[in-house]
Amino acid sequence: MHTDPDCIFCKIAAGKIPSKKVHEDDGMLAFHDINPWAPVHFLMVPKEHIPSMAQVEERHAPLLGRMLALAPKLAMREGCRPYPEGGFRIVINTGDDGGQEVHHLHIHVYGGPRPWKRG
Ligand code: 5GP
Ligand code: ZN
Repeated sequence: MHTDPDCIFCKIAAGKIPSKKVHEDDGMLAFHDINPWAPVHFLMVPKEHIPSMAQVEERHAPLLGRMLALAPKLAMREGCRPYPEGGFRIVINTGDDGGQEVHHLHIHVYGGPRPWKRG
């Protein structure tokens, strides 16, 4: 599996930088965003270093599917309220125009009672 020794999310995924873990398995890590945009805000990252959605290949589809399928369960566990009154938002910033700052693919999942700081 490809990782990048200079990448902050690779270091977090490897446990070299501490994070508040929400979920971990062989392929992914979910952890609280250090600068939350909403009462609930966590990131889901593949353990493999994929720079962004722009580099996603067919072979990544099962893992990305698993991450998306797990996101609602983690959102509820972290304090998002049930659909339809509650809910959450899923965002994947990609590239400079997409507002991406950390170049390791990550899924933002955020929600909880409004107001939110962003979104
Ligand atoms: P982007 O703008 O790339 O989509 O989002 C990057 C996110 O990563 C930001 O929301 C930022 O707060 C978060 N972040 C950056 N560095 C760290 C860190 O070291 N630990 C954690 N938990 N989150 C981080
Ligand atoms: Zn990385």
